[in-house]
Amino acid sequence: MKGTVLYGPGDIRFEDRDDPGIQEPTDAILRLAATCVCGSDLWPYRGLQPIDGPTPMGHEYCGVVEEVGSAVKSIKPRQFVVGSFATSDNTCPHCQYGYQSSCIHREFMLRAQAPYLRVPRADGTLVPTPGGTPSRDLVPSLLAASDVLGTGWFAADAANVKPGATVVVVGDGAVGLLGVLSAKQMRAGRIIAMSRHEARQKLAREFGASDIVTERGEEGAARISELTKGIGADSVLECVGTQESMMQAIQSTRPGGYVSYVGVPHGVELDGQKLFFSHVHLHGGPAPVRRFLPMLIDLILNGTINPGKVFDLTLPLDQVAEGYRAMDERRAIKTLLQV
Ligand SMILES: [Zn+2]
Repeated sequence: MKGTVLYGPGDIRFEDRDDPGIQEPTDAILRLAATCVCGSDLWPYRGLQPIDGPTPMGHEYCGVVEEVGSAVKSIKPRQFVVGSFATSDNTCPHCQYGYQSSCIHREFMLRAQAPYLRVPRADGTLVPTPGGTPSRDLVPSLLAASDVLGTGWFAADAANVKPGATVVVVGDGAVGLLGVLSAKQMRAGRIIAMSRHEARQKLAREFGASDIVTERGEEGAARISELTKGIGADSVLECVGTQESMMQAIQSTRPGGYVSYVGVPHGVELDGQKLFFSHVHLHGGPAPVRRFLPMLIDLILNGTINPGKVFDLTLPLDQVAEGYRAMDERRAIKTLLQV
């Protein structure tokens, strides 16, 4: 088969690779229905995160089980499944507490921008869709559940979004937009999306944002203060991972409020004094998507949510390099790759 490999900044190649096979008895092999490019793939693509030689790319996936190892019990060939970017046994203490992305057997998925994928710990990592193979039009939304929706949902959950709450979402990438959708599902009273990009503002409104703030950094926090009568928001979702976005999130939160952070941090350092006097709760990290997958799959299958709308560019998998370029240049929010 062919698969996606990053060679260096801006250098994505779709090239021959070995077909994946069962390596451990707990593995499954999937034939993917679709895959996509993640905002976090752009960090190494832009040379902002070093890579150690040619690196196979992709960690978002859904598709049909082709083959399972001898120790796999609940996952069966021909099931349609969705998995997370982090593998999990779903049985260890961390998994039991709902932090499957800190599973003692966690591996971060790679190599998903390809037609076939090996998934370790299949029983704990994969969730089959009830009722068999879903219709094709649901594939983008199920693919979104694999990472960006699960991460946006965790952002809202970790920021303690409650009915009637005032919520701020920092970041208008796919995760931020789906953080808006998630806060709406949790019946937030007011959702303020921070975005200066028209197409993204429109989608934020469609997903449930009541206000848009275009200012950033200190100015952005000042605008939130104005909109909340000097009090600050109850819940702030930080979905970027930069120093500016993190400080903007903390400064936008009321004393006693909650900040979640789900953007992979790059160069973020927190000042102890500022943190001390901010009086906020902080909770974030790699989203335990597996915790939310069964519920998210149900919400998608019963038509309650349509997170697949974040894909505004669809390309055949062999044009993956253009998929990266379009996202890097912000011509696309998120690229879906048809296998
Ligand atoms: Zn575990």
